[in-house]
Amino acid sequence: MILITGGAGYIGAHTNKILNQAGYDTVVVDNLSKGYENFVKWGSFENCDVGSHDLREVFEKYDIDGVIHFAAFSSVAESVEMPQMYFKNNYKNTLNLLQTMREFGVDKFIFSSTAAVYGSPENIPITEETDLKPINPYGHSKFITEKALEREAEKGDFNYVSLRYFNAAGCDFDCEIGEFHDPETHLIPLVLDAAIGKRDSISIFGDDYDTPDGTCIRDYIHVNDLAEAHVMAYEYLCDKKQSDVFNLGNGKGYSVREVIEMCKKVTKKDFEVKIDERREGDPAVLIADSTKIKKDLGWNPKYGLEEIVSSAWKWHEKVNGF
Ligand code: UDP
Repeated sequence: MILITGGAGYIGAHTNKILNQAGYDTVVVDNLSKGYENFVKWGSFENCDVGSHDLREVFEKYDIDGVIHFAAFSSVAESVEMPQMYFKNNYKNTLNLLQTMREFGVDKFIFSSTAAVYGSPENIPITEETDLKPINPYGHSKFITEKALEREAEKGDFNYVSLRYFNAAGCDFDCEIGEFHDPETHLIPLVLDAAIGKRDSISIFGDDYDTPDGTCIRDYIHVNDLAEAHVMAYEYLCDKKQSDVFNLGNGKGYSVREVIEMCKKVTKKDFEVKIDERREGDPAVLIADSTKIKKDLGWNPKYGLEEIVSSAWKWHEKVNGF
């Protein structure tokens, strides 16, 4: 059985669905601080904090073979406001999880890492060899957790795969689960809020970056492509019994303006686009070189920006009662 921490959240819930479709048994552990119990539609559910002693009861109750660890806070802006909370939740709680895994002899671990561990790299696309220089507490909390994993693996009887996500977006094509953050800070759901009339306009955070249209470029990856990579990474750990780190992105960058245009095209709605100040800590361009995961795991993204936006729009219409 696979234990999924944070399986009631956005990426965790999509991965839980895909794991169950692939025939795995799962148990979701989530304290519902950011997740939603009705996103846990597959496998078992335990309401438990990954940082608590109660976690041991979950390991006693289920026969756990491996852990996929999503439970974390993931807002850069919030991490700047509350760095301690990010280090405690993302780093310290992971140590409790690792300790518990040791106690119960569980040796396979998949970690949700992030492109934020690279900071603002000069060379694009970003390979796994790029220096790790996080520029905000969120990226830093993931960076030091990766270091803890390296050390844990050196000790033996433990292997991990760390997946450095670029911009996760899009939703389950059946609309059973989707993206829901409170407050929402991500570009695509905010643009879709404007399309559906929940907001008057969308603001572009800076149009004076050194990019072709002046707006930031990101690598958007469909959440199901991300989820699929977790299944492959788990199978890799079972077969190869070795630790590794992989970037996870489409390898194609889209500017904020291009994303907004795609949203207008898919939704067939028009809305006001404003230019606002730059958002602190936003690098101009983040694009993944995902050659390594394609070569070593045989992973290939299936979906592009249009499918990302159309699946997100379908979910958006559903939750907003259309
Ligand atoms: N962005 C924007 N307006 C918004 C929200 C986001 O212009 O209302 C930009 C943001 O500055 C970044 C890109 O959209 O360049 C993606 O931001 P998001 O928060 O979705 O993901 P991040 O790249 O921060 O992980």
